[in-house]
Amino acid sequence: MKKLLTILLVTILCSCKDNTKQLNLTEGVYLSNVTIISTEDGTYRPYIGHLVVEKDGIVYVGKNKPSISGTFEQIDGTGKFIIPGLIDSHVHIPGVQGMLPHHIEKYPELATAFKSQMPKSYLYYGFTTLIDLGGISEELITSFNKQEVKPDLYHVGYSGAAVANGYPMNFTPEEFRFDAVPNFIYMESQAENIPDKYDPADHTPRAVVKRIKNSGAIAVKSYYESGFGRMMGLPVPTKGIMKDLLTEAHSNGLVLTVHANSLEAHSFLVDIGVDIIAHGIWNWGKYKDVPTDSLPLEIKRTLDLQIQKQIGYTPTLTVIEGEKALVDTEFLDQPGLEKVVPKDLLEWYKTEEAQWFAKEIFNELTVEEVHTIYDNVQAHAMLALKYLSDHNGLILFGSDTPSAPTYGNQPGHNGNWELKLMKEAGVPLHKILASATFNNAKAFHLDSSLGSLAIGKKANIIMMAKNPLLDIEAYDAIEKVVIGGKVIKRQDLEVTE
Ligand SMILES: [Zn+2]
Repeated sequence: MKKLLTILLVTILCSCKDNTKQLNLTEGVYLSNVTIISTEDGTYRPYIGHLVVEKDGIVYVGKNKPSISGTFEQIDGTGKFIIPGLIDSHVHIPGVQGMLPHHIEKYPELATAFKSQMPKSYLYYGFTTLIDLGGISEELITSFNKQEVKPDLYHVGYSGAAVANGYPMNFTPEEFRFDAVPNFIYMESQAENIPDKYDPADHTPRAVVKRIKNSGAIAVKSYYESGFGRMMGLPVPTKGIMKDLLTEAHSNGLVLTVHANSLEAHSFLVDIGVDIIAHGIWNWGKYKDVPTDSLPLEIKRTLDLQIQKQIGYTPTLTVIEGEKALVDTEFLDQPGLEKVVPKDLLEWYKTEEAQWFAKEIFNELTVEEVHTIYDNVQAHAMLALKYLSDHNGLILFGSDTPSAPTYGNQPGHNGNWELKLMKEAGVPLHKILASATFNNAKAFHLDSSLGSLAIGKKANIIMMAKNPLLDIEAYDAIEKVVIGGKVIKRQDLEVTE
């Protein structure tokens, strides 16, 4: 009798463990016989198995065939691959690529077409989660979320925590900049340049982070930028301010991500131990002219510390490429672009009027000179990334779409380009995949619902015809995108005229 009980108990335990219990679905999706590529620890062990979705969540994933009944759509995954939906942890969704407010006013139909296509463009390239790292408004969040199909959107509040008159406030005329950046940090050294109507008590790191938290943000964005190009000598946060922002972010359950792309800025932030740096190191300062195949010791040391402290490193290589694209006459003719950029807008980008930003940043430079400058910076950026990757740094995928008012960083397309550039830099494919899924989810505290294919997680899934662990082209061989349990064919996300 006792033996029988034991056998019975073992059988029950096994069947639970096997997950072969009957799943009765009402709004199900059953992906059968598919290669499942997901990780909970950074190591990939792909296998052919099955995944079941009910409503917006994953209810089964495993090698054994599930026992299901009820209402569900079955998708035969034979020969296909599934991964978790991609997370782009550095985008900016307000605005229209390549346009200033007066262009938008002049061509409202181009702006409308862009905005209604934009969420689909991200999904077209597999990006099911976006983290907006600039300021966002309640109005924009509402209008984005009203779209029928769109990625999940997270943000950092109504503005970043920039120091008064520092980057990126400096771009806005003085009379508007303080209202435009409601979460600016009051700095004693800037007291004379801050209008009296702003109470310093409302602009301490504590007050600012509280406000950011209350706006539904998942992170605090700050900046360390002393300037570049013709814009130099900008005010930067003190160590005290940055440390306070970090402490306040943590006590509010937020992460601190900071804009920095110079050696000076990275070493300042690495020393403090911020959570994430929103760009790679490409402004090498006094090392800017060193050969592109050797990493100066000082940069190596900064990267070593970053690796040791496991500070998130967001390469954003398309920042450089997206500006260089403005002198590339073939850029706008790529077949991948017409899938995600409305035709009339693509045509406008080819006009003289749309070259305003290129004229502004390149001035009198020839195409060759632009290439020489940008290729050198990019080679340095890639070298730093390769080192960080080879030594197990924490790479977070982020495309910074768009990083400037360039038409070179288009929604979705730019993220896809970023994946390819990471590969070009020498990051192995499994690390690229982890950076855009598991690593991002964990770093931004979204891993209870996103970042892997596991029971209880949100059903954001990409089905591909190629294996992303073997071929970078897999990210352009997407067949289906599942967002919150809704299955969408890739071609249904393309631009329609
Ligand atoms: Zn950015």
